[in-house]
Amino acid sequence: MADRHKPMRPPPPLPTADLPVVVIAGRPNVGKSTLFNRLVGRRQALVADTPGVTRDRKEGIALIRGRHVRLVDTAGLEEAAPETLFGRMRASSESALDEADLILFCIDARSGITPADEHFAQWIRRRNRPVLLVANKTEGRLGAASAMEAYALGLGEPQAISAEHGEGVTDLMWEIAERLPADPVPTPEYDDDDSDASEDVVEDRPAGPLRVAIVGRPNAGKSTLLNALLGEERMITGPEPGLTRDSIAVHLKDGDDTFEIVDTAGLRRKARIDEALEKMSTSASIEALKMAEVAVLVLDATLGVHEQDLQIARLIEREGRACVLALNKWDAVEDRIATRKAILDRLSISLAQMRGVSVVTFSALTGSAVHKLLPAVRDAAIVWNARIPTGELNRWFEEMLERHQPPLVDGRRLKLRYITQVKSRPPTFVIFGTRAEQIPDDYKRYLVNGLRETFDLPGVPIRLQTRGTK
Ligand code: GDP
Ligand code: GDP
Repeated sequence: MADRHKPMRPPPPLPTADLPVVVIAGRPNVGKSTLFNRLVGRRQALVADTPGVTRDRKEGIALIRGRHVRLVDTAGLEEAAPETLFGRMRASSESALDEADLILFCIDARSGITPADEHFAQWIRRRNRPVLLVANKTEGRLGAASAMEAYALGLGEPQAISAEHGEGVTDLMWEIAERLPADPVPTPEYDDDDSDASEDVVEDRPAGPLRVAIVGRPNAGKSTLLNALLGEERMITGPEPGLTRDSIAVHLKDGDDTFEIVDTAGLRRKARIDEALEKMSTSASIEALKMAEVAVLVLDATLGVHEQDLQIARLIEREGRACVLALNKWDAVEDRIATRKAILDRLSISLAQMRGVSVVTFSALTGSAVHKLLPAVRDAAIVWNARIPTGELNRWFEEMLERHQPPLVDGRRLKLRYITQVKSRPPTFVIFGTRAEQIPDDYKRYLVNGLRETFDLPGVPIRLQTRGTK
């Protein structure tokens, strides 16, 4: 067959014309290409050769929370043209930006805001396209705090990520998804009467399944739990390939809610005995947590709390996920009241952020009470997405400051002026004030505990940042 010697035809391109266009922009070296590759991943192979698109523009299809988008990287375009840096960026990026449904404006949080960033930001602001500000290279100890400076660009709240290390990229996808134009495919209308319209108010999360990670140390009963959940015949799809090479995703339905259980290699494949079990389960947990909104921390209730459980709980906090505590093997627990109390006491002493965490007790083995888990997960996600109006927040803040004055630092009293929530998922607050960055830890704890109680934010890490003002 002569055909065999013909060069292989590329797969037919995806119909890209109707896809939302997301353009990555910013000065050279801030990490645009790295972010592009991170978002497009292996799907780059699917790029269509769109007529009229300049050769040097890098395009790919990215899957953002279940929706395909055309992702355009303006990096590399800069080298093409002469003159000033800005002129070069402008010539090459202009047409891309004018088509954009959303611009991801990237800065390098390590080097801070440069005049080129400012110049470019100003120019982008004038174009009146939806913009998401991305502060890259915030991995490690630098963290989100270094992204704060980018507020000054006037492009809204900076999203702290590390494109290279993958940190914050899942959250970034959420933010992107929220800003995409509405899907042209009409959504089916339901004949519900309006009597329960009040329910609409609470939920402030993008559509799509709620991502759940099941974490815990070996033998806690994670696999048994997953099977119990699947056994209730609520599985609607999957297992199908997940976000990373070794993960799969399982979709479950509970009432009107859909859940995606992020299942990593650590969950399915039993480690061989000679492998470092402990280490494996930790790295699998991190991987799953990065992709999830809510973590279900599974404990073997017959064994109480061990150091490794605390380690995993700290990981959940570090990754900023909402948490539901699952006390498994409840069938084998004799004194249930004492067991529950002992476990909760131990956890809240070791981890302040676990205070008020929602607890579900069940037996994965018998399936008894497993049905309580998913509703608890949904409630935790609502808290995680909570947005507290600035007015309410500052009325509370004034009361807190009156009840306990801010402390003296070096003999001078800190002047704290106001507080605002800059982010949800998890709830993140910034306090502004003279020398606000010097607020001692115990006063911060007082405020965080107050936030948690007053605004009912149990079981989620609360982030409190400070910004000194003159
Ligand atoms: P572009 O010119 O904006 O496309 O930037 P590149 O994607 O080529 O990245 C520029 C440099 O920054 C490269 O050396 C990357 O390895 C590095 N880089 C990209 N993302 C990160 C990150 O998240 N953290 C750190 N530390 N470096 C990064
Ligand atoms: P994983 O390593 O966390 O995935 O744990 P597995 O799901 O493999 O469970 C470890 C062991 O605990 C198995 O022998 C299970 O049969 C047992 N197990 C799991 N759930 C329960 C439970 O609810 N009650 C009891 N008594 N045993 C359980």
